[in-house]
Amino acid sequence: MRKIVLSTDNKNKLREIREILEDLDVEIYGKSDIDGLDFEVVEDGETLYDNALKKADAMAQRVDFAVLADDTGLFVNALNGEPGVHSARYAKEHDDKKNREKLLKNLSGEKDRSAYFKTQIILIDEDKNIIPIEGVCPGKISEVEKGDNGFGYDSIFIADGFDKTFAEMTHEEKNEISHRARALKNLREKISKL
Ligand code: IMP
Repeated sequence: MRKIVLSTDNKNKLREIREILEDLDVEIYGKSDIDGLDFEVVEDGETLYDNALKKADAMAQRVDFAVLADDTGLFVNALNGEPGVHSARYAKEHDDKKNREKLLKNLSGEKDRSAYFKTQIILIDEDKNIIPIEGVCPGKISEVEKGDNGFGYDSIFIADGFDKTFAEMTHEEKNEISHRARALKNLREKISKL
C-alpha cells in the first residue's frame, strides 16, 4: 500500500483527504504520526506554489515515502489578487474576523466583486518527482457577512451559481464545490494513474 504523509495535523484536512481517497490503495498520515517531522516551515513564499513546495520539500528530505502539502488563498480581482498568498494574515495577525472586515472595507463601493479561492497542492512521490495539483472555485465577495457554518472567509464568499455564502451552506454542500474539494478530486485522479 502506498503511504502519503501530509504537512499538517489539521483533523478536518486529514478527514477530507481520507474520505476522497478512500477507495484507492493509499494510507494517509498526519505530520506528527511520523518520527523526525517535528519542524517548522516559514511560509514566506510569493505564491501558493512556493509555500506548498517549501512545506512538501522539507518533508520529502526527511522521509522515503510520498508527501503532500497544500496552501490556499482568496484572490480578489479588484484588489489585484489580494489577499492571495497573504490570506491567513491579511490583517497582519491570523484573525479571521479582522481579515474579513479588512477585505469588506477595501472593497467598499467597488462594483467588481469577483474573486476566487485557489488551493495549490504539491505531491512529491517516492522517487522525488514534484507533482503540482490545483483546485479553483470562482465566485464573488458579498456586501455583508452572512452565515455561521464556516471559517476564514466563508461568510463573505458566494460561489458562482449560488446565492448564499459558503458559511450558509452545509459542510456537504460546500465540499461538493469548494476549491479544496476540487483540488482533492484532481489529486485523486493523478494518484489513481500513478
Ligand atoms: P490554508 O493554506 O489552508 O492555511 O489557508 C490560508 C487561509 O485562507 C486561512 O487562514 C483561511 O483564512 C483562508 N481559507 C482557506 N480555505 C478556506 C475556506 O475553505 N474557506 C474560507 N477561508 C479559507
